[in-house]
Amino acid sequence: MKLDTMRRNGLGEVVDAVVIGTGAGGAPLLARLAAAGLRVVALEAGRNREPEEYLTDEALSADLYWRGERLAGGETPQAFGANNSGIGIGGSTLHWGAFVPRVDARDLRLRQDSGQGRDWPIKLDELQPLYVELEAFLGVSGPAHYPWHPARHYPLPALPRNAPAQAMAMGAARLGVVTCDAPAAVVSQDFAQADGPTRLACVHCGYCHQGCRNRAKVSMDTTFLPLAVARGAEIRPGCFAHGLERDSQGRITAVLYRQDGREYRQLCAAVFLCAGAVETPRLLLHLGLGNRSGQVGRNYMAHVATQVWGTFAEEMRGNKGWPSSLMSEAMIRPEDADFAGGYLLQSLGVVPQTWADGVARGRGLWGQALVDYIDRYNFTAGIGINGECLPYEHNRLTLSDEIDETGLPKPHIAFSYGENERRLQAHATRLMTGIWQQAGATDIWALPRSAHTIGTCRMGTDPDDAVVNPFGRSFDIDNLWICDNSVFPSSLAANPALTIMALSLRTAAAFLDR
Ligand SMILES: Cc1cc2nc3c(=O)[nH]c(=O)nc-3n(C[C@H](O)[C@H](O)[C@H](O)COP(=O)(O)OP(=O)(O)OC[C@H]3O[C@@H](n4cnc5c(N)ncnc54)[C@H](O)[C@@H]3O)c2cc1C
Ligand code: SF4
Repeated sequence: MKLDTMRRNGLGEVVDAVVIGTGAGGAPLLARLAAAGLRVVALEAGRNREPEEYLTDEALSADLYWRGERLAGGETPQAFGANNSGIGIGGSTLHWGAFVPRVDARDLRLRQDSGQGRDWPIKLDELQPLYVELEAFLGVSGPAHYPWHPARHYPLPALPRNAPAQAMAMGAARLGVVTCDAPAAVVSQDFAQADGPTRLACVHCGYCHQGCRNRAKVSMDTTFLPLAVARGAEIRPGCFAHGLERDSQGRITAVLYRQDGREYRQLCAAVFLCAGAVETPRLLLHLGLGNRSGQVGRNYMAHVATQVWGTFAEEMRGNKGWPSSLMSEAMIRPEDADFAGGYLLQSLGVVPQTWADGVARGRGLWGQALVDYIDRYNFTAGIGINGECLPYEHNRLTLSDEIDETGLPKPHIAFSYGENERRLQAHATRLMTGIWQQAGATDIWALPRSAHTIGTCRMGTDPDDAVVNPFGRSFDIDNLWICDNSVFPSSLAANPALTIMALSLRTAAAFLDR
């Protein structure tokens, strides 16, 4: 994005706020604070890019992902790397899939309803106006009729269904499972973006996870961040924040960071930590800050994201089109569930290398057998889920005794499914297999996997039991705010980014009103 004419602040000037991280959590609040006339500086560990740099090539796009080593433990260790978080101006939204369901009200009160999980200190009514505002600003494309909430309207018409979506619609209909076009943070028509270049309509190339050259897919560097810069925010790429200085009252007075091997110190009146659910707790644990509750790093969650694949007689060419163009909320609370919570269903289109990785892991194929199977790529299609993962104290991020290139200890993330996740996965696998059977697929197989990085600095109302209050403000340090995937008290079945952006606008409003 264009940064050459942005306002610049001196290191010795006390800016109103430093925002660490420019992803889904950091970018909306940066824009909101700048629009209110505050002097704000964002520090981003990754580099700045122009959308024209994105390539329809998986191997050459690897630098979009956070590559620092994360040590995975537990019984169902999460695969890190391309599967979970990004780096660069825009954070993980550079490579995300842009599927933007809203949260279901029942997921915010799962404990109240089921005795399991943890309730949010926020009601859906507080998020709804923010969802509507975000969908209009970002240009969300969606169905004219949303079966589970008929009053909901999306600003732009739905994207076309690709072949896997059409096959899933047929199979689901035969089983009586209601589906609809998926809400996408992708513009289906040319869209005039406030303070940025026009975003051109999606051309269905299918390389969303490698960055969108057309700006059709929402990423923070084509939406909120140009707005922030136009309102006076400064964004510093390539700056890794590693320290916080405090005064005798414990208030933060400066952020310490490294750029091109040199150390810097930015004076500030407040800090927003928006580094994601791994880097945010890592920094706090490393500095020994904000953890009076003992909750920093605990309750790490990853959505149950199992996929089921099948082979079809006709070509599917799942690499074409926006990947997840069909969805279903029918399993948010399945009638025959033997678990708490539920899951969303999505059609899948996966580009070849990512798919081949999944084949090797899911089917255990190697060598010639793998080569023979991946020859069928154009004839395969998948369905995936995004399912509730309950918070467990023992699923936890801690610091290892290995130091990485940033000078911080590498994070160790212990993650094990509980009985609830195993039952949910089994239910979803049966259903997805049934849908593919009804659609005429053969050689059907499942790829168990988890996705997203959630929890570790949960919000709540009790300072002994939560890291931040319901607006993201630290209970321990008055001028520290956290806004990213780490503050989620429970995982929700909905994919997280739209809700993170809504929380970001909410946190900004609370900061401005304080
Ligand atoms: C492949 C993939 C597909 C996805 N698809 C979807 C989807 O379809 N729908 C959906 O809702 N969600 C999706 N997600 C998840 C979504 O992208 C994330 O949940 C969301 O972006 C997280 O927002 P965040 O602000 O917590 O972190 P991020 O967006 O990851 O931003 C954190 C930023 O902080 C920076 N940072 C970290 N540490 C430091 C430091 N010490 N100093 C300076 N900067 C730092 C990072 O470089 C990064 O830019 C997907 C994720 C992946 C990996
Ligand atoms: S499919 Fe559409 S949204 Fe995805 S990268 Fe291509 S043009 Fe962008």
